[in-house]
Amino acid sequence: MLLIIEKETLLELARLVGGEEAAKVMRLLISKPGVVDEVIAGKLGMDVREVRKMLHKLNSIGILYYELARDKKTDHRIFKWYVQDEQATGFIISNMQKIKERLIEKLRSEENNQFYWCGTLGHPRLLFDQAMEQLFRCPVCKRPIEPHENKDLVESLKLKIEEIEKALSEMIEARKPEIAEKAE
Ligand SMILES: [Zn+2]
Repeated sequence: MLLIIEKETLLELARLVGGEEAAKVMRLLISKPGVVDEVIAGKLGMDVREVRKMLHKLNSIGILYYELARDKKTDHRIFKWYVQDEQATGFIISNMQKIKERLIEKLRSEENNQFYWCGTLGHPRLLFDQAMEQLFRCPVCKRPIEPHENKDLVESLKLKIEEIEKALSEMIEARKPEIAEKAE
């Protein structure tokens, strides 16, 4: 029996990795295999650099692959993007497991530590020792840093881990018949 990853599972994976934008890119790739980044950007009204970043992110977890070609008019290298086929599921599963482990590590660190933060996104959150070294000021903006209430972050990490577990169990479930055949 051939394994078919549900379209919804692929979109869900893309969403987990790169948010709603990544899911849009994925949806387009499912309907138009071999499409190039500029065309994706044009069709979705996205910045082409943003699209490339998204494609490489999705490629890094094994959902996509590309073919290098040359533009006949400009002779520039172009990347044609495709959604990975069934054989890649094993690879995707192991990557998803790695992502899950990283998230669990992050969750533990969030649950077991008190972080100090100035409240500005992108500025570092420091552990107590680091905060003391900085005299309880943000190393970037020099504003006072305070204990960060991370309950929302903890909740969203838990949710993300749950989502990955769900996607993983669906994929593993879908693979079972194939494994059973090999065992015979
Ligand atoms: Zn700051």
